[in-house]
Amino acid sequence: MAQIPEHIIDEIRQASDVVDIVGQYLPLKKMGNTYKTLCPFHQEKTPSFNVNPQKQIWHCFGCGKGGNVYTFLMEYDKVSFVEAVRTLAQKAGIKIPETRADFKDGQHDLLYQANELAARFFSDNLADPKNTSAREYLEKRGITKETQELFRLGYAPNEWDGFIKYAGRSGLSLPLLQESGLIVARETGNGFYDRFRHRIIFPFFSLGGRVIGFGGRSLEQSPQAKYLNSPETPIYHKGRGFYGFSQTKSAVGDAGYAILVEGNFDLIVPFQAGFKHILATAGTALTPDQARLLSRYARRVVVCYDPDNAGQSATERAIEPLLEAGLDVKAALLPPNMDPDAFIRERGAEEFGALIKNAITFVEFLVMRASLHKDLSQISEKSRLVNDLAGLMVKVEDTVSRSQYARETADLCGVDESLVLDLMRKKQGLSPKQAAAPGKELPQTDWEHEIFVLLVKRPQFLEQFWPQLKEGNLASDWLGTILQKMDLIYRERGTIDPSGLLEQFKDPEQQQRLTMILARSRQGEDTMDDADKDRTVLRDYLKKLKELKLKPRMKELQEQIKVSEKAGDQQQVSQLLAQYQELRQIYAGKKP
Ligand SMILES: [Zn+2]
Repeated sequence: MAQIPEHIIDEIRQASDVVDIVGQYLPLKKMGNTYKTLCPFHQEKTPSFNVNPQKQIWHCFGCGKGGNVYTFLMEYDKVSFVEAVRTLAQKAGIKIPETRADFKDGQHDLLYQANELAARFFSDNLADPKNTSAREYLEKRGITKETQELFRLGYAPNEWDGFIKYAGRSGLSLPLLQESGLIVARETGNGFYDRFRHRIIFPFFSLGGRVIGFGGRSLEQSPQAKYLNSPETPIYHKGRGFYGFSQTKSAVGDAGYAILVEGNFDLIVPFQAGFKHILATAGTALTPDQARLLSRYARRVVVCYDPDNAGQSATERAIEPLLEAGLDVKAALLPPNMDPDAFIRERGAEEFGALIKNAITFVEFLVMRASLHKDLSQISEKSRLVNDLAGLMVKVEDTVSRSQYARETADLCGVDESLVLDLMRKKQGLSPKQAAAPGKELPQTDWEHEIFVLLVKRPQFLEQFWPQLKEGNLASDWLGTILQKMDLIYRERGTIDPSGLLEQFKDPEQQQRLTMILARSRQGEDTMDDADKDRTVLRDYLKKLKELKLKPRMKELQEQIKVSEKAGDQQQVSQLLAQYQELRQIYAGKKP
């Protein structure tokens, strides 16, 4: 790991608000003292992902993941600790002293660097006076300078090694650039060439806004491939995110609904015309991952794919994952031979708005598709359609919409509504409800954790309570280890902050356990500062701990004393009594 001084790591963490940072990736809703959202690390329908501004930690009660700002970036962006520190340093405007050891960064970090470098290369080339064809092309499509900058559009020059030469000065190795998908090895085994040539470039971004890959549209007259995307890499996965979503996610969250399109220009052109709550699949069929991602931001989606058969059957296939993610699905119907980009350029924003507004329900859409391609006067065809629709409708969570869809199906297919409802009931019986994510059970009792949380809040009491706890009064060894460490930290620094404490434990499992305890507890959240009250509470808790440990032993002694008395063994009796008295004194708090 690079040598970033510990005080700088602390300073950066303290300058970064966990609500702020997590909020850049996930839509957070304030609920009481904490913020909630659907967990990005496991599949769920009700939010169990919590962000706590007082403690500066996050925690998911569903899957148990949790940590501080650094851990979040490491988990979410799959970067190393060093890179997470760097990212936040940049945001906070804190300078990290550079050392040679920094070059030992993880591979993900280097891939991000390679992509960022390429994005700069492409946008420099778009601005280069000699590349007029690229600029003219965008001008012809009506893409403004402002939009170009927002989406960081670029141009890959018509050369075999433009980027290779440019990257040569960066210190990034050729094998790394190959892994990033930016260059391709020659089949002869003799060197590399640029993957993207003579193309308009659309960078793909992570939700946090980092460049992770590229799409390129050819400027050739008759290209071999009109569109070319980056291959899968450790940081770019097709079908995980959406094109443009990093720029549009807050608009989608605000609107509560989204327009889903296929291509890059289909997103950019409507966006520029004022439809900011829009996102694009760009190059893949819609995946369940994408649907779940969208469902974290919106409740409704209008699918607006191309009107040709490919686009319409893609719409058909998108319905199921979208419904499964809990979204209300509609389809907007474009006139023949027009994609959203062309529609807006020819008919304008107002008509596009009307088109979206007049979108039809997924039931209508599927019945329409079936009636175009199948003979619904045939009983077997009709029954298959109704059956398919029933299978989809049971995925709709909202009961009111579900019964509306059932009625719609009955009307459109000319069957009895009770028949549709019957079919749905049958389907529901067949699809078992998804098992809830297993919550991690803690072997420790809650109040033992409360002691720990209270001591995080009031580390000045460590001196008084730690020696007593150390006496073997704690049920869990690992909590003892933590308290011991806290005792040391407090003596050294005179302060303890929860999110900083996490950093002392590099083992992810221990970190998550700690976060869970911190997140669960309500302690430390009251703004009233009452140290005396906390001291009393701590004393009570400690008494309970002792009780738990001593009571069974005392009871046992009482039994033994009775037995010895009956047997007339006076020596034994007085020995046992002495033991009993000692325990009583400890129990009463007169002895540690
Ligand atoms: Zn989770």
